[in-house]
Formats: sequence, structure tokens, C-alpha cells
Amino acid sequence: MPERDAVTLRAGRVIRSADHAPEGPHEITITADGRIHEVRAIPPDRLTPDKSRLLLMPALANAHDHGRGLGTLAFGATDQPLETWLPDLARQPPLDVHQCAVIAFSRMALSGIGAINHCHNTQSSQTLLAEAEAVSRAAREVGVRVAFCWPFFDANPFVYGDLEPLAAHMDAHEIAHLRAREAGMRDCATNLALMEQARAFEHALFTLQYHPVGPQWVQPATLAAIARAARDDGRRVHMHLLETRYQRTWADRRHPDGIIRHFDAIGLLSPNLTVAHGVWLRPDECALLADRGVTVVVNASSNLRLRSGLPPMGLLKQAGTPLAFGLDGMALDDDEDMLRELRLAYHLSGATSGDALAPADVLRGAWVTGRRTIVGEDGGGLIEPGAPADIMGVDFAALSHDAVTSRADTLPLLLGRAQKRHVQLLLVNGRFVVQGGNHGCRPPPGAHRWSAPTPRFPPSRKT
Ligand SMILES: [Zn+2]
Repeated sequence: MPERDAVTLRAGRVIRSADHAPEGPHEITITADGRIHEVRAIPPDRLTPDKSRLLLMPALANAHDHGRGLGTLAFGATDQPLETWLPDLARQPPLDVHQCAVIAFSRMALSGIGAINHCHNTQSSQTLLAEAEAVSRAAREVGVRVAFCWPFFDANPFVYGDLEPLAAHMDAHEIAHLRAREAGMRDCATNLALMEQARAFEHALFTLQYHPVGPQWVQPATLAAIARAARDDGRRVHMHLLETRYQRTWADRRHPDGIIRHFDAIGLLSPNLTVAHGVWLRPDECALLADRGVTVVVNASSNLRLRSGLPPMGLLKQAGTPLAFGLDGMALDDDEDMLRELRLAYHLSGATSGDALAPADVLRGAWVTGRRTIVGEDGGGLIEPGAPADIMGVDFAALSHDAVTSRADTLPLLLGRAQKRHVQLLLVNGRFVVQGGNHGCRPPPGAHRWSAPTPRFPPSRKT
């Protein structure tokens, strides 16, 4: 982490937390160790015109993503149901992992995202360790907080269940190829040992989490081993869960007494567990997750693009399940715009059963709950003395340009209109990542030569 000076921010408006009403002109001082020192009201005449336009708030957390850097549409993975999209996803050409991560994290930072849950899809299953090092370097260079979710994927690479019914429709050579690929998957012990080596790449902005990719994609013994390991070392676990109707069908067949109850029986459910999607969760399952303090990440854009359905946001809210939000590398307009993602989830929540989300629910998810799934409990996600100085600023004057009454309140304008283009600054750990709407990170050597290379090997499942 480079040397930093103490920083003073001034703005015409500030929202300290999801539980505070927006306030007027403030000055925030930040110490050289990256923490907020003081937050105090100041008279409006202390502000320059550009500072008076500014609205400061906690930085956003993107609680589920893959940091691809190159949009899936760019290599022909057309939006479609997940199960037919996954083979298309494997067509991604080999790319420089470091460049991809720098580009992905930088685009997210421009949207006000200061913390990212990065579920890693490998370029090649042989190079996972080197790829983790590359992503660790990218997090340090861009200056955002990244949880690297270490993939465990040792079951059902092609279908949910036995390959035999599929074999009847394939020739002998093809099915032999699939069986060989299935047999070559990294086993749990090998993967745990590799992950142990990757701990050397951790730093102040980069930590590892266990990532059983999804219950249908790991052996039961692997999931149980991860639950034990996480209990022993306190690391967080992050998993895709019940994203599609077909995964629901698989889960009901495999666990007739209930898949979430099974997770509870093996000790997987805890405040250290995050599950992404949860589109097909049932009311009793939402309640059990709430009771165990498990966070559910809503990925509204992704669920629309991959035809998964709508997550039961209203039921989750009623149950009291901690909620966070994620782009899943599938923002509706492929623009990594977290502010628009929050708006989409906010409005769609009213179309689900139960209670629609209130603005405070959305902001708490984006500022506090999502952050906790990435960095753990660090007192962040709010603007108060002692908290980590992870702060974003948007051009509120642009948001409110046509407001003709003082009833045009800050929160409705923020949730109703704010976009990535309004983001003016992002500080993470007291360091400017975005300033004046421009990204403060120098691109790595060669980044300007970005182009999609010709594939060097046939498409393969990335695990
Ligand atoms: Zn995902």
C-alpha cells in the first residue's frame, strides 16, 4: 500500500448510514491510516461550488461477481437459460487474468464499488494458483477490497446427475471425452492444499474464502469438509444456491428432507455463509437462513438475463434474512453500474410476494451487509469516526437538476436516478481510487493493447 497523506473531504450533502437521514454541508477528515477521524457540519459558505454539488455516502459493495473483465456477449455467450449458457461461457478465449481483473475492478470502482466478492472462474484449471496471484495483484493496484472465492468444483460438470441418460444421445468418442474430463476434476484434498498455498497472496485488500461453486457441483463429502474447515479457521464460505428451477428439482430429488435443513445438519449454516441467487428458496428455507444469520445475495440483472426468475426478496425481508446485492458479471446493460443494479432490485422487490424493500433495506445491503460478506465485521459501511474510510461521492446537483420543490428528497433521487456516470469519487481505506469521475489507478503495462486473442485450446469447462 503506497504512502498516503491525511485527507479532508467537504460536500454539500452526506448520508452517514442506512439509518441516518441525509444531512447538509459536512467536512470529513481521514487519517493517514485510512480511518475516518471526524465528521462535522460546516456552514455552506465553506464549500466551493463543485464541493457543494457533492453527496457523500459509504462506498458500495458488490457481493457476488466473477471479475471477468470481458463481457460474456463479447465472445458469443448469448443471454439464455443458465444451463445452456454455461457451455457457451466455456467458449471464453484465454485472456490475461491480471488484465481482466484490473479492467473488471476498475470498471466497478467507477461505479462506486469499493468491495467486491470475486468468485473466480479459472482460465485453465491447471493455473488456479497463478491466477489467484494475478487477481491479488490487481486488487492491490486498483485499490479495492476483494474477497477471492476459491472454487471447489468436483461433481456434475455437464449435467445435474448421472451422465448415462446423456450418453445415449452421444457417440462413444464424445462421451469418453466427457468422462475423462469428469475424472480429471480437482479433488477436495488437492484443492484445500492449493488454497493453503494461496494464503501467501493475501494482503490488506485481498482475502480468500471457501467457494463450493454450488451444491450440485460439489461432492457431499467436499461440502462437509468445507463446513468443518470454515468452522475451524473462521473463513467465510460463499456459494451459488438454487439459482434455477432445474437446480431446485435436483435439490429436491437429492435431499427429500430439504436441502437447507441438510446444510444445517452438516454445520454449514452460519453468519459466515453467503449464498448467491436463492431464486427458488421457499418460505421455510428463508426463515431458516434468517435464523442462522446466512446472507442471501440478490442478483437481479443476472436472474433476468439467464431466465432464472425473481429472487423472493419480499419473503426474505419478512423473514429477516440479511440481504446484499451483486452484479454477477451480468449487469443488465453490461455496464457494471451498481447504482442501476440497486434500483432494479429495489423496484422488482415490489413485484415479489411479501414486503417490498424500503430504501434503507437497499442501502443497508449495499453498504453494510454486502461489505460484511467480503471483509467480515470491520465496523465499515458507514461514515462515522473510527470507521474505515471507504466513501463514494456522486454529483447530486446533476441528480436534482430539475427539482422544483424542496420535497424532492435526497434518497428518492439517489435510488430513482443515480447512475455510474454521476460518481465523482471513491476512497477505499482512505486512498483515492476514483477522483473527479476519473479512475486514479494507472493501467498496468500493456493494458492499452487490450484485444481478444485467438483461442489457444478448445473450449473447456472452467473450474
Ligand atoms: Zn455467479
